[in-house]
Amino acid sequence: MLVINDLHAAIDGKPILKGISLTVNAGEVHAVMGPNGSGKSTLAQVLAGHPSYEVTGGSVTYNGVDLLELAPEVRAQNGVFLAFQYPIEIPGVTNAYFLRAAYNEIRRSKGLEEVDPMEFLDVVEEKLKLVDMDVSMMSRSVNVGFSGGEKKRNEILQMAVLQPMLSILDETDSGLDIDALRIVANGVNALKRPDNAAIVVTHYQRLLNYIVPDYVHVLAGGRIVKSGDKSLALELEARGYDWVLEAA
Ligand code: ADP
Ligand code: MG
Ligand code: MG
Repeated sequence: MLVINDLHAAIDGKPILKGISLTVNAGEVHAVMGPNGSGKSTLAQVLAGHPSYEVTGGSVTYNGVDLLELAPEVRAQNGVFLAFQYPIEIPGVTNAYFLRAAYNEIRRSKGLEEVDPMEFLDVVEEKLKLVDMDVSMMSRSVNVGFSGGEKKRNEILQMAVLQPMLSILDETDSGLDIDALRIVANGVNALKRPDNAAIVVTHYQRLLNYIVPDYVHVLAGGRIVKSGDKSLALELEARGYDWVLEAA
């Protein structure tokens, strides 16, 4: 599904990603871990198409097409979804309006008819249960006044409604208490299918007690310095990152 080859990226002329190679197949969950500032969010943003990041080398192929050539909205239409590390607030735009607009945009791109607000409510209802959110949250402005946990759950709600093929979750676990963490993880697990995949960026091993990854990669200094299976995450939890960084 996704083949990243020797990806280099910079922001404001400062090189951040220095040769990332990673292959993600359908059905797989990849965890990306690593110390603060190692480039995890940069990788996520580059894949989603954030315009501030300049790709300075390498390639990214997504279902056989050059992902880097696609505008961010086309990537989204084609099933790439990014759950933000810091979800943004959008005053004056209701959650229902925002989410339905995104949902309809994807339907339009597939030649499907748009759904009206009543039909959309049916779509959203079961998804709200998945993330334990009350329907009243749909009539509030996007993320405005939401708690940290509610914002993260709202990201997972978006993911549940939009049903992406490639989900990238950027530290969706940071700042969550254990109940919210479990809800977020359950949401992600419930959406796992043989034909979709997820890249789960996390700073801590904690989330991976609930979302079991097929592969774990350690990002440091803009490179993947070690890859392994879920036992690597447990080892990192026990021993920290230093031994990996020294070996690299
Ligand atoms: P992580 O998500 O692993 O904590 P980031 O990808 O957010 O790391 O950041 C990687 C590096 O890029 C850090 O050194 C950070 O300071 C730098 N960086 C991120 N955004 C900018 C920016 N807008 N301008 C300059 N440097 C940035
Ligand atoms: Mg960070
Ligand atoms: Mg980050």
